[in-house]
Amino acid sequence: MAELVIHDLKKDYPTRSEPLEILKGIELELTSGDNLAVIGPSGSGKSTLLNILGTLDHPTSGTYTLNNIDPFTLEEDELASFRNANIGFIFQEHHLLPQLSVLENILIPTMANGKPSQDDVTRAESLIARVGLTDRSHHRPAELSGGERERVAVARSLICGPSLLLADEPTGNLDRRNAQQIGELLLEIQQAEEMILVVVTHSSELAGMLGQQLEINDGCLVRAGA
Ligand code: ADP
Ligand code: MG
Repeated sequence: MAELVIHDLKKDYPTRSEPLEILKGIELELTSGDNLAVIGPSGSGKSTLLNILGTLDHPTSGTYTLNNIDPFTLEEDELASFRNANIGFIFQEHHLLPQLSVLENILIPTMANGKPSQDDVTRAESLIARVGLTDRSHHRPAELSGGERERVAVARSLICGPSLLLADEPTGNLDRRNAQQIGELLLEIQQAEEMILVVVTHSSELAGMLGQQLEINDGCLVRAGA
């Protein structure tokens, strides 16, 4: 059972004068099967929050536990393996490696400890089938459409079986139809795997597909539209 608990989380960025206070006291609790849309204007701190949830950035103060572990107490190499084992990421700029095939891109996260195992390859193939790209598994990213590349990023985020899946503007570069399909795919997989899903999005359509909508307003997470 996955559990994410955040209490009074703050993030400042230093400047030459006063620090820039971006997050001013975030409260959040999510468990397996929960899915959440985080909305808010550009610059409100959505990516900052998502990066902290993903342990890619540290909060200035406050507490964060994922599956009863405070990731920020871990040493750097422990943190890297904790992140790899527990958290999947999908970014708008999907960061696929151009010289690698679809299959190889999806296997990258399994290579932290060396060569992918046969089990990893089998899991990658089944994820490729699940995102509808079986006949594309040996193609390179440049040979795919934007929607197809986003599907590869979805499969790659799932290869290590995360309990927390984070997506930052996953449909930002897609047309409406592809955006809707990616939204449906994410939800279908999230529910089947009972993960926690947090999606940052500008799209009210995508936000509306998710179970909860919260907005970053003056550094705090509040019910959207409240
Ligand atoms: P959003 O994703 O909601 O558009 P971000 O979380 O990217 O917003 O950024 C929130 C604010 O923090 C912005 O004003 C941005 O300029 C600032 N910011 C983000 N990262 C840094 C950084 N590393 N150093 C200083 N300021 C930053
Ligand atoms: Mg952002």
